[in-house]
Amino acid sequence: MPDVGFVNGRFMPLAQAAVPVEDRGYQFGDGVYEVVRTYQGKPFQLEAHLVRLERSAEAIGVSVPYPRQEWERLMTEGLRQAGYEDSKIYVQLTRGVAPRDHVFPVDAQPTVVMTIRELHSLPASVHKAGVEAVTMEDLRWGRCDIKSLNLLPNVMGRQRAKEAGAFEAIFVRNGLVTEGSVSNVMVVRDGRLSTAPEGPTILSGVTRKLVLDLARKEGLAVEERYVTVEELRRADEVFLSGTTVEVLAVVRVDQKPIGAGIPGPVTRQLGLCFKRAVG
Ligand code: PLP
Repeated sequence: MPDVGFVNGRFMPLAQAAVPVEDRGYQFGDGVYEVVRTYQGKPFQLEAHLVRLERSAEAIGVSVPYPRQEWERLMTEGLRQAGYEDSKIYVQLTRGVAPRDHVFPVDAQPTVVMTIRELHSLPASVHKAGVEAVTMEDLRWGRCDIKSLNLLPNVMGRQRAKEAGAFEAIFVRNGLVTEGSVSNVMVVRDGRLSTAPEGPTILSGVTRKLVLDLARKEGLAVEERYVTVEELRRADEVFLSGTTVEVLAVVRVDQKPIGAGIPGPVTRQLGLCFKRAVG
């Protein structure tokens, strides 16, 4: 079954999908995106992802061409064509095609791209063992709450992590942990779960919200506050949340073990709750 592409209303095999070189997404990173995954073939938390897409688009002044129901219909059709058991749906919305000029074009139509690829979840062994992370200076702009296409610091961070033999880069701004390059960061100390508050320094993860709700339901104390990099290092447990990573223990940061150096009880408990929540 081929991966599926969708450009401005038309489905096609992904290999045939293309946009003009003067698309502003390509030339300026002038657009926003979402990544949605399926469980049991159905888009998970679709409403929350679409709400965030609308919010991101509004923040940069791009109109969203479809109402939520139409997105759902299009995704369902794409998933049907792809036919995978589970898929990763990437949606990208740009300000459209126009001669290169920083000023917004007057009459350009937004470009809508969707790709549907087979989902390759992280192996169970990775979830069981946990992963390593490295910290790095958060060099991103002041609106990290917008899921914008401008991912160069995230790309550099993730690459630096890979070169260090780690899985994720944890961003630190003025000594405070913001988030990961592809995930939100949760820190457990003395049974309290802390994570950076919503606002311009983080992307408010769909998974973050779900995990915090689950934690509260489990009776855990949850604090939405910044954790210092020293607190991160001295934590009992650290884990990541995100659409692709789900709930993933971090067992080493900058080559030093977190807690006992294995996934801790709170992470495992929330990992189980998460598994139940997805189906
Ligand atoms: N933070 C960043 C920078 C991300 O790129 C992502 C996911 O792509 C997340 C957090 C987690 O967000 P979500 O749980 O909505 O996937």
